[in-house]
Amino acid sequence: MPTRKGNIYNMINIYTYVKQLDVENGETKRLNCPLCNSYKTFSVTNNMGSLLWNCYKASCSTKGSSRVHLSVDEIRAIQKKQASSKDETFTMPDFIVPHRHRKEIMNFCELWELDIEKVDLYYDVKESRIVFPIKKDGVIVDATGRSINNKLPKWKRYGNSDLPFTHGCGSVAVVVEDCVSAVSVGNDVYVGLAVLGTSLLDSHKRFLSQFSTAIIALDPDALPKTLSFAKELRGYVKDIKILRLTDDLKYRKPIDMDNLINLTQKETQKWN
Ligand SMILES: [Zn+2]
Repeated sequence: MPTRKGNIYNMINIYTYVKQLDVENGETKRLNCPLCNSYKTFSVTNNMGSLLWNCYKASCSTKGSSRVHLSVDEIRAIQKKQASSKDETFTMPDFIVPHRHRKEIMNFCELWELDIEKVDLYYDVKESRIVFPIKKDGVIVDATGRSINNKLPKWKRYGNSDLPFTHGCGSVAVVVEDCVSAVSVGNDVYVGLAVLGTSLLDSHKRFLSQFSTAIIALDPDALPKTLSFAKELRGYVKDIKILRLTDDLKYRKPIDMDNLINLTQKETQKWN
């Protein structure tokens, strides 16, 4: 049981510790937690000179933030990126508007039990689609929209990035079929990654390579796809698990959620 004094001592130490890691702007480092010693549960991100850190282990409360100075080179790189990205970056089309608690979005959230406060949604007023922004380093780089009036395609991609849609900030990746499932499963334990297609792209594998555990949780009838994903991820992720679902994860069947937790607990126990 740490004493109060001990905590303050640790806090001072952690400031020194994270600062000497020299995390560059835009970079995230995943390390063993300096306080609870858990395997790679500690993450430090430098977002434009804001250093944020936290430990994903439920029993460990290590988290904090601090400003760090950006080097002249880093500031130049940001300016250059901002200047060049003006033509390159994705801009939301005019017909895609912020959700503003509009009826269609609220109904969709209610149907899938999504918490509108926890998920960033937009609405395509032209084609009646619920739009999920795809972000990279906190910036919207693409978007995909789910039709709510049976218009085809069911999912429409607006930009041309090959990045996956992800949701959550946990330390275990869960590979799912679509954005709704990714949002359903993503929280501070899991990161839901929606493949949004039939194949696992290099960008998906690169993203997944930062996790030591990935759980593949595709539709129950997609066993060949599941097995091929598991095979493809070898070499990128240390532990690859297959969650045999009884239904798509977005339906949150209690048996599926229990199985997911069991699968994760086995992993967490193994690390400790
Ligand atoms: Zn910790």
